[in-house]
Amino acid sequence: MTLTPAVRRFRSYQRRIRQARMVARAIKSKRHPILAHIIPMRRCNLSCGYCNEYDKVSNPVPTAEMLRRVEMLAKLGTSIITISGGEPLLHPDLDEIIRGIRSQGAIATIITNGYLLTPERIQQLNRAGLEHLQISIDNVNPDDISKKSLKVLDRKLQWLSEHAVFDININSVLGGGMAHPEDALTITRRALELGFETTVGIIHDHDGQLRSLKENERAVYDQILRERKPAMFAFAYDNLFHKNLALGQENEWQCRAGSRYLYICEQGLVHYCSQQRGYPAIPLEKYTQADVDREYSTVKECAPFCTVSCVHRVAMLDLMRNQPREALTRFFPPATEGGPPQLPAGVQVLTKIFLPPPDGQPQGAAQKVVAGAAMKIFGVK
Ligand code: SF4
Ligand code: SF4
Repeated sequence: MTLTPAVRRFRSYQRRIRQARMVARAIKSKRHPILAHIIPMRRCNLSCGYCNEYDKVSNPVPTAEMLRRVEMLAKLGTSIITISGGEPLLHPDLDEIIRGIRSQGAIATIITNGYLLTPERIQQLNRAGLEHLQISIDNVNPDDISKKSLKVLDRKLQWLSEHAVFDININSVLGGGMAHPEDALTITRRALELGFETTVGIIHDHDGQLRSLKENERAVYDQILRERKPAMFAFAYDNLFHKNLALGQENEWQCRAGSRYLYICEQGLVHYCSQQRGYPAIPLEKYTQADVDREYSTVKECAPFCTVSCVHRVAMLDLMRNQPREALTRFFPPATEGGPPQLPAGVQVLTKIFLPPPDGQPQGAAQKVVAGAAMKIFGVK
Protein backbone atom coordinates (compact mmCIF):
# COMPACT_ATOMS: atom_id res chain seq x y z
CA MET A 1 0.00 0.00 0.00
CA THR A 2 1.35 3.45 -0.92
CA LEU A 3 1.51 6.37 1.53
CA THR A 4 1.27 8.96 -1.25
CA PRO A 5 -2.45 9.87 -0.91
CA ALA A 6 -1.89 10.51 2.84
CA VAL A 7 1.24 12.60 2.12
CA ARG A 8 -0.72 14.50 -0.55
CA ARG A 9 -3.51 15.25 1.94
CA PHE A 10 -0.98 16.46 4.53
CA ARG A 11 0.83 18.67 1.99
CA SER A 12 -2.54 19.87 0.78
CA TYR A 13 -3.24 21.39 4.23
CA GLN A 14 0.09 23.25 4.03
CA ARG A 15 -0.85 24.50 0.57
CA ARG A 16 -4.26 25.67 1.86
CA ILE A 17 -2.39 28.00 4.23
CA ARG A 18 -0.38 29.42 1.32
CA GLN A 19 -3.58 29.81 -0.68
CA ALA A 20 -5.29 31.54 2.26
CA ARG A 21 -2.34 33.94 2.37
CA MET A 22 -2.77 34.60 -1.36
CA VAL A 23 -6.50 35.33 -0.85
CA ALA A 24 -5.77 37.63 2.11
CA ARG A 25 -3.18 39.57 0.03
CA ALA A 26 -5.64 39.84 -2.87
CA ILE A 27 -8.34 41.21 -0.61
CA LYS A 28 -5.93 43.61 1.12
CA SER A 29 -4.66 45.16 -2.14
CA LYS A 30 -5.91 45.31 -5.74
CA ARG A 31 -2.54 46.46 -7.12
CA HIS A 32 -0.90 43.14 -8.02
CA PRO A 33 -1.67 40.19 -10.35
CA ILE A 34 -3.21 37.21 -8.58
CA LEU A 35 -2.63 34.72 -11.40
CA ALA A 36 -0.37 34.64 -14.48
CA HIS A 37 -0.21 32.00 -17.20
CA ILE A 38 3.19 31.61 -18.85
CA ILE A 39 3.88 29.67 -22.03
CA PRO A 40 7.30 27.94 -22.18
CA MET A 41 6.59 26.60 -25.67
CA ARG A 42 3.68 26.67 -28.06
CA ARG A 43 4.38 23.22 -29.49
CA CYS A 44 2.01 20.40 -28.55
CA ASN A 45 2.15 16.63 -29.01
CA LEU A 46 -1.62 16.59 -29.72
CA SER A 47 -3.77 18.56 -32.16
CA CYS A 48 -7.26 18.89 -30.69
CA GLY A 49 -9.80 20.02 -33.29
CA TYR A 50 -11.10 23.01 -31.29
CA CYS A 51 -7.74 24.37 -30.07
CA ASN A 52 -6.07 27.62 -31.17
CA GLU A 53 -3.26 27.53 -28.59
CA TYR A 54 -0.64 25.28 -30.20
CA ASP A 55 1.63 24.66 -33.16
CA LYS A 56 3.81 21.77 -34.32
CA VAL A 57 7.06 23.61 -34.92
CA SER A 58 8.03 26.04 -32.16
CA ASN A 59 11.17 25.59 -30.07
CA PRO A 60 11.20 25.81 -26.27
CA VAL A 61 11.69 29.32 -24.89
CA PRO A 62 15.26 29.32 -23.46
CA THR A 63 15.23 28.48 -19.76
CA ALA A 64 17.14 31.61 -18.72
CA GLU A 65 14.48 33.72 -20.47
CA MET A 66 11.65 31.82 -18.73
CA LEU A 67 13.34 32.37 -15.35
CA ARG A 68 13.72 36.07 -16.17
CA ARG A 69 9.98 36.27 -16.94
CA VAL A 70 9.17 34.51 -13.67
CA GLU A 71 11.32 37.05 -11.82
CA MET A 72 9.54 39.96 -13.56
CA LEU A 73 6.15 38.52 -12.62
CA ALA A 74 7.32 38.18 -9.01
CA LYS A 75 8.39 41.84 -9.06
CA LEU A 76 4.84 42.77 -10.09
CA GLY A 77 3.69 40.82 -7.00
CA THR A 78 2.11 37.82 -8.81
CA SER A 79 0.79 35.20 -6.36
CA ILE A 80 0.21 32.15 -8.62
CA ILE A 81 2.15 31.27 -11.78
CA THR A 82 0.66 28.56 -14.01
CA ILE A 83 2.79 26.99 -16.73
CA SER A 84 0.64 26.22 -19.74
CA GLY A 85 1.16 25.64 -23.45
CA GLY A 86 1.15 24.04 -25.97
CA GLU A 87 2.27 21.12 -23.85
CA PRO A 88 4.55 22.27 -20.99
CA LEU A 89 5.94 18.76 -20.34
CA LEU A 90 7.70 19.03 -23.72
CA HIS A 91 9.94 21.78 -22.30
CA PRO A 92 13.31 20.17 -21.42
CA ASP A 93 13.79 22.33 -18.29
CA LEU A 94 10.26 22.45 -16.95
CA ASP A 95 11.42 21.43 -13.46
CA GLU A 96 13.91 24.28 -13.32
CA ILE A 97 11.13 26.73 -14.21
CA ILE A 98 8.97 25.25 -11.42
CA ARG A 99 11.88 25.65 -8.97
CA GLY A 100 12.30 29.25 -10.17
CA ILE A 101 8.63 29.99 -9.43
CA ARG A 102 8.89 28.48 -5.94
CA SER A 103 12.12 30.35 -5.19
CA GLN A 104 10.25 33.62 -5.91
CA GLY A 105 7.63 32.64 -3.32
CA ALA A 106 4.80 32.17 -5.85
CA ILE A 107 2.47 29.13 -6.05
CA ALA A 108 3.60 26.86 -8.95
CA THR A 109 1.00 25.05 -11.06
CA ILE A 110 0.82 23.46 -14.55
CA ILE A 111 -1.86 22.59 -17.06
CA THR A 112 -0.95 19.53 -19.15
CA ASN A 113 -2.61 16.99 -21.43
CA GLY A 114 -0.95 14.31 -19.27
CA TYR A 115 0.36 12.17 -22.16
CA LEU A 116 4.00 12.38 -21.06
CA LEU A 117 3.44 11.49 -17.40
CA THR A 118 5.17 8.39 -16.03
CA PRO A 119 5.77 7.41 -12.38
CA GLU A 120 9.38 8.72 -12.67
CA ARG A 121 8.24 12.03 -14.23
CA ILE A 122 5.65 12.50 -11.46
CA GLN A 123 8.35 11.93 -8.82
CA GLN A 124 10.54 14.55 -10.53
CA LEU A 125 7.65 17.05 -10.43
CA ASN A 126 7.26 16.27 -6.70
CA ARG A 127 10.94 17.05 -6.15
CA ALA A 128 10.76 20.27 -8.21
CA GLY A 129 8.07 21.55 -5.82
CA LEU A 130 5.02 21.53 -8.11
CA GLU A 131 1.90 22.42 -6.11
CA HIS A 132 -1.01 21.83 -8.47
CA LEU A 133 -1.57 20.05 -11.79
CA GLN A 134 -4.64 20.20 -14.03
CA ILE A 135 -5.54 17.81 -16.83
CA SER A 136 -8.52 18.51 -19.04
CA ILE A 137 -10.19 15.33 -20.32
CA ASP A 138 -12.59 15.77 -23.22
CA ASN A 139 -14.18 12.36 -23.76
CA VAL A 140 -14.15 8.72 -22.66
CA ASN A 141 -12.97 7.31 -26.02
CA PRO A 142 -10.73 9.18 -28.49
CA ASP A 143 -12.37 10.62 -31.60
CA ASP A 144 -11.38 12.84 -34.54
CA ILE A 145 -11.70 16.03 -32.45
CA SER A 146 -9.83 15.03 -29.30
CA LYS A 147 -7.54 12.31 -28.00
CA LYS A 148 -7.58 13.72 -24.45
CA SER A 149 -9.62 10.69 -23.44
CA LEU A 150 -10.23 8.85 -20.19
CA LYS A 151 -9.47 5.53 -21.88
CA VAL A 152 -6.01 6.75 -22.92
CA LEU A 153 -5.27 8.69 -19.73
CA ASP A 154 -6.70 6.46 -17.00
CA ARG A 155 -3.34 4.74 -16.37
CA LYS A 156 -1.74 8.20 -15.96
CA LEU A 157 -4.45 9.17 -13.47
CA GLN A 158 -3.75 6.03 -11.45
CA TRP A 159 -0.03 6.89 -11.43
CA LEU A 160 -0.86 10.40 -10.26
CA SER A 161 -3.01 8.97 -7.50
CA GLU A 162 -0.16 6.66 -6.43
CA HIS A 163 2.83 9.02 -6.73
CA ALA A 164 1.88 12.73 -6.82
CA VAL A 165 2.15 14.76 -3.62
CA PHE A 166 0.78 17.88 -5.40
CA ASP A 167 -2.94 18.68 -5.79
CA ILE A 168 -4.65 17.40 -8.93
CA ASN A 169 -7.69 18.78 -10.71
CA ILE A 170 -9.45 16.95 -13.51
CA ASN A 171 -11.44 19.24 -15.77
CA SER A 172 -14.16 17.78 -17.98
CA VAL A 173 -15.96 19.73 -20.69
CA LEU A 174 -19.50 20.15 -21.95
CA GLY A 175 -21.10 21.97 -24.86
CA GLY A 176 -20.58 22.53 -28.56
CA GLY A 177 -23.11 19.79 -29.39
CA MET A 178 -20.66 17.07 -28.34
CA ALA A 179 -21.64 13.50 -29.28
CA HIS A 180 -21.49 12.05 -25.75
CA PRO A 181 -22.15 14.68 -23.06
CA GLU A 182 -22.54 11.90 -20.47
CA ASP A 183 -18.76 11.38 -20.79
CA ALA A 184 -18.25 14.46 -18.59
CA LEU A 185 -20.09 12.71 -15.75
CA THR A 186 -18.07 9.48 -16.21
CA ILE A 187 -14.83 11.52 -16.09
CA THR A 188 -15.94 13.46 -12.99
CA ARG A 189 -16.90 10.25 -11.17
CA ARG A 190 -13.55 8.61 -11.99
CA ALA A 191 -11.65 11.69 -10.78
CA LEU A 192 -13.61 11.79 -7.50
CA GLU A 193 -13.00 8.05 -7.05
CA LEU A 194 -9.25 8.67 -7.30
CA GLY A 195 -9.43 11.49 -4.73
CA PHE A 196 -8.90 14.42 -7.14
CA GLU A 197 -10.60 17.82 -7.35
CA THR A 198 -12.89 18.30 -10.34
CA THR A 199 -14.15 21.17 -12.45
CA VAL A 200 -16.30 21.26 -15.56
CA GLY A 201 -15.81 23.80 -18.34
CA ILE A 202 -18.19 24.90 -21.05
CA ILE A 203 -16.64 24.78 -24.51
CA HIS A 204 -15.91 28.21 -25.90
CA ASP A 205 -15.30 29.38 -29.43
CA HIS A 206 -12.06 30.91 -30.69
CA ASP A 207 -12.89 34.25 -29.00
CA GLY A 208 -13.51 32.66 -25.59
CA GLN A 209 -17.26 33.15 -26.09
CA LEU A 210 -20.18 30.93 -25.25
CA ARG A 211 -21.82 28.11 -27.14
CA SER A 212 -24.87 27.50 -24.95
CA LEU A 213 -25.72 24.00 -23.66
CA LYS A 214 -28.39 21.78 -25.18
CA GLU A 215 -31.00 20.19 -22.92
CA ASN A 216 -29.19 16.83 -22.55
CA GLU A 217 -25.91 18.64 -21.85
CA ARG A 218 -27.60 20.73 -19.15
CA ALA A 219 -28.98 17.59 -17.48
CA VAL A 220 -25.42 16.16 -17.29
CA TYR A 221 -24.13 19.48 -15.96
CA ASP A 222 -26.76 19.54 -13.18
CA GLN A 223 -25.89 15.96 -12.19
CA ILE A 224 -22.17 16.82 -11.99
CA LEU A 225 -22.95 19.76 -9.69
CA ARG A 226 -24.90 17.41 -7.41
CA GLU A 227 -22.03 14.90 -7.19
CA ARG A 228 -19.12 17.29 -6.74
CA LYS A 229 -17.62 18.10 -3.34
CA PRO A 230 -19.39 20.76 -1.20
CA ALA A 231 -19.08 24.33 -2.37
CA MET A 232 -16.40 26.70 -1.14
CA PHE A 233 -15.80 30.09 -2.76
CA ALA A 234 -14.37 28.87 -6.07
CA PHE A 235 -16.96 26.14 -6.60
CA ALA A 236 -19.80 28.41 -5.56
CA TYR A 237 -18.69 31.01 -8.07
CA ASP A 238 -18.06 28.39 -10.79
CA ASN A 239 -21.56 27.08 -10.21
CA LEU A 240 -23.02 30.55 -10.50
CA PHE A 241 -21.20 31.71 -13.63
CA HIS A 242 -21.49 28.38 -15.45
CA LYS A 243 -25.16 28.14 -14.57
CA ASN A 244 -25.84 31.40 -16.40
CA LEU A 245 -23.75 30.29 -19.38
CA ALA A 246 -25.45 26.89 -19.46
CA LEU A 247 -28.75 28.74 -19.81
CA GLY A 248 -27.29 30.97 -22.55
CA GLN A 249 -27.51 33.99 -20.22
CA GLU A 250 -24.84 36.63 -19.85
CA ASN A 251 -22.83 37.15 -16.67
CA GLU A 252 -22.63 40.55 -15.05
CA TRP A 253 -19.02 40.84 -13.94
CA GLN A 254 -15.90 42.92 -14.40
CA CYS A 255 -13.05 41.12 -16.21
CA ARG A 256 -9.75 42.12 -14.58
CA ALA A 257 -7.50 40.62 -17.29
CA GLY A 258 -4.31 42.63 -17.79
CA SER A 259 -4.32 43.45 -14.08
CA ARG A 260 -5.27 40.63 -11.73
CA TYR A 261 -4.75 38.01 -14.47
CA LEU A 262 -1.93 38.09 -17.06
CA TYR A 263 -1.29 35.80 -20.03
CA ILE A 264 2.35 35.83 -21.12
CA CYS A 265 2.78 34.28 -24.57
CA GLU A 266 5.88 32.42 -25.73
CA GLN A 267 7.23 35.70 -27.12
CA GLY A 268 7.06 37.33 -23.68
CA LEU A 269 4.15 39.69 -24.49
CA VAL A 270 1.38 40.37 -21.96
CA HIS A 271 -2.11 39.65 -23.33
CA TYR A 272 -5.54 39.72 -21.66
CA CYS A 273 -6.00 35.95 -22.02
CA SER A 274 -5.39 33.08 -24.45
CA GLN A 275 -8.56 34.05 -26.34
CA GLN A 276 -7.81 37.78 -26.58
CA ARG A 277 -4.20 37.81 -27.71
CA GLY A 278 -3.07 41.12 -29.16
CA TYR A 279 -4.44 43.26 -26.29
CA PRO A 280 -2.53 45.00 -24.81
CA ALA A 281 0.47 42.99 -26.21
CA ILE A 282 3.10 44.88 -24.19
CA PRO A 283 6.47 43.14 -23.54
CA LEU A 284 6.56 41.88 -19.95
CA GLU A 285 9.75 43.83 -19.17
CA LYS A 286 7.88 47.05 -20.06
CA TYR A 287 4.73 46.14 -18.12
CA THR A 288 4.48 48.46 -15.15
CA GLN A 289 2.33 49.14 -12.11
CA ALA A 290 0.56 51.81 -14.22
CA ASP A 291 -0.51 49.08 -16.71
CA VAL A 292 -1.76 46.86 -13.87
CA ASP A 293 -3.74 49.79 -12.40
CA ARG A 294 -5.20 50.86 -15.77
CA GLU A 295 -6.36 47.40 -16.80
CA TYR A 296 -8.08 46.84 -13.44
CA SER A 297 -10.80 49.24 -14.60
CA THR A 298 -10.72 48.69 -18.38
CA VAL A 299 -14.08 47.31 -19.54
CA LYS A 300 -13.75 44.26 -21.82
CA GLU A 301 -16.59 44.00 -24.31
CA CYS A 302 -16.18 40.23 -24.54
CA ALA A 303 -17.02 39.80 -20.82
CA PRO A 304 -20.79 38.99 -20.79
CA PHE A 305 -20.44 35.60 -22.55
CA CYS A 306 -16.83 34.86 -21.62
CA THR A 307 -16.11 31.25 -20.60
CA VAL A 308 -12.49 31.64 -19.44
CA SER A 309 -13.06 30.29 -15.95
CA CYS A 310 -9.69 31.14 -14.33
CA VAL A 311 -10.24 34.86 -15.04
CA HIS A 312 -13.75 34.62 -13.56
CA ARG A 313 -12.32 33.08 -10.38
CA VAL A 314 -9.77 35.85 -10.03
CA ALA A 315 -12.54 38.44 -10.48
CA MET A 316 -14.46 36.71 -7.69
CA LEU A 317 -11.80 37.82 -5.20
CA ASP A 318 -12.25 41.45 -6.24
CA LEU A 319 -16.01 41.15 -5.93
CA MET A 320 -15.45 39.83 -2.40
CA ARG A 321 -13.08 42.71 -1.78
CA ASN A 322 -15.41 45.45 -3.05
CA GLN A 323 -18.89 44.18 -2.07
CA PRO A 324 -18.38 41.30 0.39
CA ARG A 325 -21.93 40.84 1.65
CA GLU A 326 -23.52 41.19 -1.80
CA ALA A 327 -20.97 38.70 -3.17
CA LEU A 328 -21.76 36.14 -0.45
CA THR A 329 -25.48 36.46 -1.11
CA ARG A 330 -24.86 35.83 -4.83
CA PHE A 331 -22.55 32.83 -4.28
CA PHE A 332 -24.59 31.20 -1.50
CA PRO A 333 -28.22 32.26 -2.05
CA PRO A 334 -30.62 32.25 0.95
CA ALA A 335 -32.90 29.22 1.38
CA THR A 336 -35.88 31.57 1.77
CA GLU A 337 -36.43 34.97 0.22
CA GLY A 338 -34.92 37.72 2.39
CA GLY A 339 -33.14 35.15 4.63
CA PRO A 340 -29.37 34.98 5.32
CA PRO A 341 -27.00 33.39 2.74
CA GLN A 342 -26.34 29.64 3.26
CA LEU A 343 -22.62 29.87 4.12
CA PRO A 344 -20.35 26.81 4.55
CA ALA A 345 -18.73 26.65 8.03
CA GLY A 346 -15.27 27.90 6.90
CA VAL A 347 -16.78 30.89 5.13
CA GLN A 348 -18.86 31.72 8.22
CA VAL A 349 -15.68 31.87 10.33
CA LEU A 350 -13.90 34.15 7.81
CA THR A 351 -16.98 36.39 7.61
CA LYS A 352 -17.06 36.82 11.38
CA ILE A 353 -13.34 37.64 11.50
CA PHE A 354 -13.07 40.05 8.59
CA LEU A 355 -16.42 41.61 7.67
CA PRO A 356 -18.00 44.57 9.47
CA PRO A 357 -21.31 43.69 11.20
CA PRO A 358 -24.33 43.39 8.86
CA ASP A 359 -26.09 46.32 10.59
CA GLY A 360 -23.64 48.74 8.90
CA GLN A 361 -21.75 49.51 12.12
CA PRO A 362 -17.93 49.70 11.84
CA GLN A 363 -15.77 46.79 13.12
CA GLY A 364 -15.45 46.78 16.93
CA ALA A 365 -12.03 46.88 18.68
CA ALA A 366 -12.09 43.13 19.51
CA GLN A 367 -12.88 42.19 15.90
CA LYS A 368 -10.08 44.45 14.64
CA VAL A 369 -7.60 42.69 16.96
CA VAL A 370 -8.72 39.23 15.76
CA ALA A 371 -8.61 40.33 12.08
CA GLY A 372 -5.11 41.81 12.57
CA ALA A 373 -3.89 38.60 14.23
CA ALA A 374 -5.38 36.50 11.41
CA MET A 375 -3.58 38.67 8.80
CA LYS A 376 -0.31 38.16 10.70
CA ILE A 377 -0.85 34.38 10.71
CA PHE A 378 -1.36 34.56 6.93
CA GLY A 379 1.85 36.64 6.67
CA VAL A 380 0.09 39.67 5.13
CA LYS A 381 1.48 43.07 6.09
S1 SF4 B 1 -3.53 19.20 -25.74
FE1 SF4 B 1 -4.12 21.28 -25.15
S2 SF4 B 1 -2.66 22.64 -26.20
FE2 SF4 B 1 -2.49 20.62 -27.15
S3 SF4 B 1 -3.85 20.77 -28.92
FE3 SF4 B 1 -5.05 19.85 -27.24
S4 SF4 B 1 -6.06 21.59 -26.22
FE4 SF4 B 1 -4.43 22.43 -27.53
S1 SF4 C 1 -13.72 38.75 -20.84
FE1 SF4 C 1 -11.58 38.81 -20.20
S2 SF4 C 1 -11.00 36.67 -19.94
FE2 SF4 C 1 -12.90 36.68 -21.11
S3 SF4 C 1 -12.26 36.58 -23.26
FE3 SF4 C 1 -12.51 38.76 -22.71
S4 SF4 C 1 -10.49 39.44 -22.05
FE4 SF4 C 1 -10.45 37.19 -22.03
